[in-house]
Amino acid sequence: MNLEVNKQRLTSEIEELALISDAEAPAVTRIVFTPTDLRARAWFLERCKKAGLATRQDAIGNIFARWKGQDANAAAVGTGSHIDAIPNAGKYDGVVGVLGGLEAIRVLQQSGFNPKRSIELILFTSEEPTRFGIGCLGSRLLSGSLSADAVKKLTDKDSASIEQARRTAGFQGELETVKLSAGHYQAFVELHIEQGPLLEQKNISLGIVSKIAAPSSFRIFIDGAGGHAGGVLMPDRHDALCAASELILAIEQQAKTSGSTDTVATVGICEVFPGAVNSIPSRVHLSLDIRDTDLQRRDSLIAAAEASSQAIAANRGVTIRQELVNADAPGDCAANIVETLSESCKKHRLSFLPMVSRAYHDSLFMSRIAPVGMLFIPCRNGYSHRPDEYASPEDIARGTLVLAETLRSLAS
Ligand SMILES: [Zn+2]
Repeated sequence: MNLEVNKQRLTSEIEELALISDAEAPAVTRIVFTPTDLRARAWFLERCKKAGLATRQDAIGNIFARWKGQDANAAAVGTGSHIDAIPNAGKYDGVVGVLGGLEAIRVLQQSGFNPKRSIELILFTSEEPTRFGIGCLGSRLLSGSLSADAVKKLTDKDSASIEQARRTAGFQGELETVKLSAGHYQAFVELHIEQGPLLEQKNISLGIVSKIAAPSSFRIFIDGAGGHAGGVLMPDRHDALCAASELILAIEQQAKTSGSTDTVATVGICEVFPGAVNSIPSRVHLSLDIRDTDLQRRDSLIAAAEASSQAIAANRGVTIRQELVNADAPGDCAANIVETLSESCKKHRLSFLPMVSRAYHDSLFMSRIAPVGMLFIPCRNGYSHRPDEYASPEDIARGTLVLAETLRSLAS
């Protein structure tokens, strides 16, 4: 059974979907539950039906398109990703996994393959946190990583509740029904652009992910004492920005000496009050993002940052408060799926690189209920979340071929 990806069909579908956007081409903006998102979903459903797949949508808008296997009761093999896009993004993030997944199924159908297990393509709702402030909404709910009650409390910046937004968009039913059981999927595989530069730099076709790093984020509030920049002498100061500076450097040092290059820590926001040239900073707000592939190491860095906060606060006579925004556990890809992906690459004589996913994906949450694997393809300069994001049709076709081969093995 020869597998042949229709590169032209796939490329033109990616281009067509990119035009369903609230930004001018080549930029793509597709925010969850907007009319544009709904048009894109309808377009996708149409394609799934054309491929003879049975479709259903759950209460949060996750779309499932199933190619029924011979054994209807056997746990299915899943693949998929997302099509929502942050403002002014590109064409490939998420889309390659959804349309590549559809193409992989069509490739298998045309090869005459008759799957034992059903193969299910998933379009996850709101992987991007743009509208409701939390990423991977669909997969979190699906996997029970987030409760229906927690989801119901979410609102967008215009105070529209998610309950109202999803129902207006046509997704009825209760959110409690979205969660799937742990045995629903035998395996889940996601094809995605790398969103980093390694594959391109090493001139390697494909990346096989072993671990998915998870983010944790915090808000840090530092309260010191303000005053006149001329009047308050140095021994009497409780400068909030000096304390913040010391803390930022301490966290950088702790991340650098964690023992692994997988540990990364970033302070991306620093707001200084009152923000005047002749006034001592009295208050500072920082953001802190800590990621790692190892939960224990990540948590010990969080603890170290907290200890530094307290030491610096005591030393400088300021108060420092660290507030948790979110902390997800990292995920491991399943050894058998990593192995199947590697075998599929070898079979088609394609080079591959074992790697870590430093961005998180729906697969991270799917890993809570199913063995998962991720396959990366190169993207130019590692650019993503910008209009000049680019993956070549050849690389997308190679990824799709290996995905099809892998689905064939897993569903046999
Ligand atoms: Zn993505």
